[in-house]
Amino acid sequence: MSAKIYIFLSSSIADDVCRVRRPLILLIKKDLMILKFLGGAQEVGRSGVLLSDSKNFLFDYGVKLDHKTEYPMDAGRIDAFLLSHAHLDHSGMAPALYNEAVLPSFGTAPTAELAELLLNDSLKIARKEHKQEKFHRRQMKSFIKHYVSVEYSGRVSLGGHSVEFHDAGHISGSAVILLEREKAKDNKRVLYTGDFKLQGQLLHDGADIVKSDVLITESTYAYKDHPDRKAIIRDFIDKIRAVLQNGGNALLPVFAVGRGQEILAMLYEGGLADSVYVDGMVKAATQIVRKYPQFISKPDLLEKSLKKASLVVDRSDREIALSEPSIIVTTAGMLNGGPVLDYITRLNDSSKIFLTGYQIEGTNGSTLLKSGKINLDGKTRRITNPVELFDFSAHAGMDDLYRYVRESSPNVVICMHGSEENTKLLAEKLDGEGFKTYAPGFGERIELE
Ligand SMILES: [Zn+2]
Ligand SMILES: [Zn+2]
Repeated sequence: MSAKIYIFLSSSIADDVCRVRRPLILLIKKDLMILKFLGGAQEVGRSGVLLSDSKNFLFDYGVKLDHKTEYPMDAGRIDAFLLSHAHLDHSGMAPALYNEAVLPSFGTAPTAELAELLLNDSLKIARKEHKQEKFHRRQMKSFIKHYVSVEYSGRVSLGGHSVEFHDAGHISGSAVILLEREKAKDNKRVLYTGDFKLQGQLLHDGADIVKSDVLITESTYAYKDHPDRKAIIRDFIDKIRAVLQNGGNALLPVFAVGRGQEILAMLYEGGLADSVYVDGMVKAATQIVRKYPQFISKPDLLEKSLKKASLVVDRSDREIALSEPSIIVTTAGMLNGGPVLDYITRLNDSSKIFLTGYQIEGTNGSTLLKSGKINLDGKTRRITNPVELFDFSAHAGMDDLYRYVRESSPNVVICMHGSEENTKLLAEKLDGEGFKTYAPGFGERIELE
């Protein structure tokens, strides 16, 4: 793909994009770069990293969706927002940046549309559950209005800094982000990985490995490798086929963005696409992914998968899906809402639930695995159908995390987006290999000279 260059030349970035004048931030030492971890430090969720030198850049600004929702620290005054991908643990608080201030946000085109879909859904849920919203629709609109779409390998020139987005191999539009000063003699190439996967998936090639001086990496699976993906897919397809042969429904809860499309492709390749029904937000997410074929590796495969599948549009379609042996691909992936809760209580005895992603502690998916129970409208319900979890993770496993670090060859490695145990483990092991490492905690600052 040929590189595109986007240039925002004047001294204040916001002036270029939004025509709003804001004061420059003065730092004590000219070449000092300061990183502040607003969230996602020694935890998974609410990622946010503030990089300050002559300008303030914010990488991601998400929420932590645990048993209760947690938010990152206040970002203060920033000059530009750089978004790695659409998942809410990275994008969930982006509209809150658009209070009275307006600023440019940068990321790929599918990231903006997929984030908008997920953010609107989170607003809807907050309203339904009478929870306090952290931003309003007006701020959502402002965020989208000031979003600048960048292609992979495209370069943005931002008042003395350049920023590049490269394929992270995680979901449609996901990017590792490289930021560097354009003229400084002691330039530091700062690479922020967001979430990445090195091994290819059906619809994504592995992440681009980008050289860096300072690497801020995710650490989600610092402790283990994923099992062989091809073997899991074979097992998954065989077990679904057995359910169909016994006259049951295979209920596949999926995350709308990323996993949903990957599962549809798997079912097509496994020869099962004729029996597939697609319901819930995964439909809208898939339409967005289709709009940007240049951001997936096999757009034809996704098209073919969809052509054979039936889209559920109303209740009568749901009844049809349940009345015959079928595969129901629907949201939500952790069973905390969406049409999956309608299906799960109406399955016949030959049916089975196939969980296709990590289940956060406290979610219905997690309690179903542990105790066979879910919470439905405040009441505990026992689910008698068998349930099984399949590891289709879109994150790098342990060996790939180390490989990425070694090949990116930074001097400094900062480990985030992982539990306290995992970020410290990765930092400690890389320290043993001669890298200068950190596993910062929530709110911690690191000064880079
Ligand atoms: Zn993600
Ligand atoms: Zn993440």
